[in-house]
Amino acid sequence: MRYLIVSDIHANWQALEAVLADAAGEYEQILCCGDLVGYGADPNRVIDWARTSLTEVVRGNHDRAGAFDDDLEWFNPTARRSAVWTRKTLTVENREWLKALPSGPRAVADFDLVHGSPLDEDEYLVRPDDFKDAFLHMFHRLAFFGHTHLQGAWSWDGGRHRPWESGASLDVRGNAAWLINPGAVGQPRDLDPRAGYALFDVRLGEVHLKRVAYDVTAARHAILAAGLPRSLGNRLIEGT
Ligand code: ZN
Repeated sequence: MRYLIVSDIHANWQALEAVLADAAGEYEQILCCGDLVGYGADPNRVIDWARTSLTEVVRGNHDRAGAFDDDLEWFNPTARRSAVWTRKTLTVENREWLKALPSGPRAVADFDLVHGSPLDEDEYLVRPDDFKDAFLHMFHRLAFFGHTHLQGAWSWDGGRHRPWESGASLDVRGNAAWLINPGAVGQPRDLDPRAGYALFDVRLGEVHLKRVAYDVTAARHAILAAGLPRSLGNRLIEGT
């Protein structure tokens, strides 16, 4: 089986289209680590696609915020505005579908999908200690995660912990444990504005972390035309 693994699409249709075109022919199934919506201008289009295209998906914090009427105290003002806009913009059917998304971890064959970390869907795995702790709480020896919008990976062979950069090709055979972030499709934050995704060939035991340029200007214009905060469009250009 060959998987296309995506995360943090954030209602960015232009970025998603570019990823699908770039990865065409390289996978049989698509998996998603959450945050289909929030920030971007095309939540319905992205969910219409997700409903028919994803084999497995876990919810992200922005999916939760767009689906439910929970208070948004813990969001910053810009994220709050976009969550309220997303709630109003989603069709009834798409909002119900979003509400029904499972929280992670979600097992796919012998690996897991999570949004934040194996222990907590809202936890950010960023610092070395975050990963060292997360490895102790894994259900399988391989997990894909999102949430940080930073493409990369960490491995642990029982002794040594090691980080892997954006763009790396990973050999996940053997006994090492892996936490792999495919990167954000719709809002990268590592100063590289290109959309991130991963290809996982199970038979070969290979994961490739990929980037592809997309029409950032069109995605930014859609955000402005929707009346969403200008900063949400600008950050796409900067990759922040
Ligand atoms: Zn996100």
